[in-house]
Amino acid sequence: MVLLTRKIEFSASHLYHNPAFSPEENRRIFGKCNNPHGHGHNYTLEVTVAGEPDPVTGMVLDLKELKEILEREVMERMDHRFLNKEVPELAGKMPTCENIACVIWNLLEPEIRRGRLYRVRLYETPDLFVDCYRNRAGASNEGSS
Ligand SMILES: [Zn+2]
Repeated sequence: MVLLTRKIEFSASHLYHNPAFSPEENRRIFGKCNNPHGHGHNYTLEVTVAGEPDPVTGMVLDLKELKEILEREVMERMDHRFLNKEVPELAGKMPTCENIACVIWNLLEPEIRRGRLYRVRLYETPDLFVDCYRNRAGASNEGSS
């Protein structure tokens, strides 16, 4: 098995705000991400597909197709968007790096038909990233939390 990764970058803005918290609590818990008018991040997304190289093409999957999937499912939905309002998949969720990575996983997984989606890694800043795998924590060992 080999792992193939494609990396893309997109820019988007978000706002963390929980109406159940007081303004002070929101500021304390969410920091600058609670700025009332939102603020932006330059996200880096790494999508890893696992599979066997095709004996004829030598490729795990069609790289052009993967690029098109990322363009359609991620760039067109999220690039230069206000994530709270413009991405329906995030409606009602805090647009954290964690939740965005899960949404991206769910968008990509059904689209990848050769090989299988192995990992979604989303960087919010160069020194902060989230990894999403098929068996997410809690999915296979319910009750242990
Ligand atoms: Zn932020």
